[in-house]
Amino acid sequence: MGKLRAPIVIRAGRGALMVGVTMFFAALFGILTREPGFLAAFWPANALMLGLMIRWPWLGGPMGWLGGIAGFLAADLVTGSDPATSLLLTAANLSGICTGYLAARHLDIADRSLRRPSSVIRMILVIFLATAAAGCGGAIANAILFDQPPVTGWVIWFATELINYIAILPVVLTIPTRDGLRWPGRLRARMLAPLGALAASAAIAALIGGPGAIAFPVPALLWCAVRYGLFVNALIAFGVSAMMLIGVATGVIALGSELAGQHALMSLRIGVTLIALTPIAISSVMTDRAVMMQRLHDMATRDQLTGVANRRQFDREARKAMGRAAAAGHPVAAMMLDIDRFKAINDNHGHATGDEVLRVFARKASAMLRPGDLFARVGGEEFAAILPAMAADEAVALAERVRRAIADQAMDLPDGRLLCVTVSIGVAVTKDCGAGPSPLLIEADRALYDAKDAGRDRVAHRLVPGGRP
Ligand code: GH3
Ligand code: MG
Ligand code: MG
Repeated sequence: MGKLRAPIVIRAGRGALMVGVTMFFAALFGILTREPGFLAAFWPANALMLGLMIRWPWLGGPMGWLGGIAGFLAADLVTGSDPATSLLLTAANLSGICTGYLAARHLDIADRSLRRPSSVIRMILVIFLATAAAGCGGAIANAILFDQPPVTGWVIWFATELINYIAILPVVLTIPTRDGLRWPGRLRARMLAPLGALAASAAIAALIGGPGAIAFPVPALLWCAVRYGLFVNALIAFGVSAMMLIGVATGVIALGSELAGQHALMSLRIGVTLIALTPIAISSVMTDRAVMMQRLHDMATRDQLTGVANRRQFDREARKAMGRAAAAGHPVAAMMLDIDRFKAINDNHGHATGDEVLRVFARKASAMLRPGDLFARVGGEEFAAILPAMAADEAVALAERVRRAIADQAMDLPDGRLLCVTVSIGVAVTKDCGAGPSPLLIEADRALYDAKDAGRDRVAHRLVPGGRP
């Protein structure tokens, strides 16, 4: 029992530490960048904590919450806040985070990482609930600390939290997993063009100014949305809203004197952040579409039972491979493989065992081929391979290795028994690749019948008539 418990305790402790340290530095950032006597304008801590707990649910245990609260309080105390104020503000912050967390528990895994077209809408709903609750907590805190009417406190907290959550939550929710982390290789100009357009549109916004300037980056954002993945788009949205807001605050982007008031500035900040949501929504749709296209492509080109290429894909790729070999002047070998007495395997052990034999056979045989070779299931228990740039003796030797690998190692059955499976293989080779794959495959098929007629569990080979060996 003790041994089983230890990892859970260590995991909970690690979670508490991770949330606690992150909250400490995020709150410290908010405290150090706020104007003295005011609440922070940019407070990333709440959205970060909610994001962490939605993205990695194991952080959302009691220890994670305790770690987060400790982080908040510690940041306040080391910067000289009095404990009562610190407790009050932390409680107001937690009201939003808790509400968002409870709402997000109803989302499934795809929505939590924004991978569906409707995910962004659902996330906005969670954000509205969290920010409305934060507004309530803030109304009480502001009434006590600043003697403000509750409605004013609610509006200020709601608006500020809305911006924080919309800017930060998508970034945390789309952080790639270690498996999904993929560097695109060499950076090409084509990859960077949308980012260039974004920089140019920001420069034009600064040059022209006026209230419409905040929407100038939209076309470049749309380009980014169709070119990059979700996480990069969430980062870009965050970066663009931050740059635009800093640009406006420092006067680099002059929107006009009528936009100087507190109310107008708040409206502007919300507007900029909401504009940045568009590319994230589009990117979500693109991600969903890419997954669907991949699934459709798999269904159209792969055999569903064994996962190797299907007949249609084999025909298409074989034609291409023969064309390439004809251009290069290489020979091409083909193998036709047929499992021996497979009907008897089905009859004696059942169809499910037959299916498992097909899967194991496909895995073993395909693993013995080279990366550029083509291997497919072309019939019930019939498989075919195209081996570019392979001479007759090499092809026969390879077929013999495959035959032996299948015959020498019995397959384990679920009931613990062993099943001996054998395969007959026909090999044909041609140097006349201009004629396409048909004559080669017909000859390999004839060779396969030779192997069956000669007693099965063997390799036979033929030359394509007219082709030189
Ligand atoms: P031979 O040694 O002459 O090749 O004999 P065989 O029994 O292997 O050949 P035959 O063509 O008579 O039988 C093939 C069997 O493969 C018949 C069919 O029921 C079975 N089969 C075809 N597709 C599948 C499948 O997807 N799963 C399973 N379990 N069996 C299949
Ligand atoms: Mg057959
Ligand atoms: Mg057979």
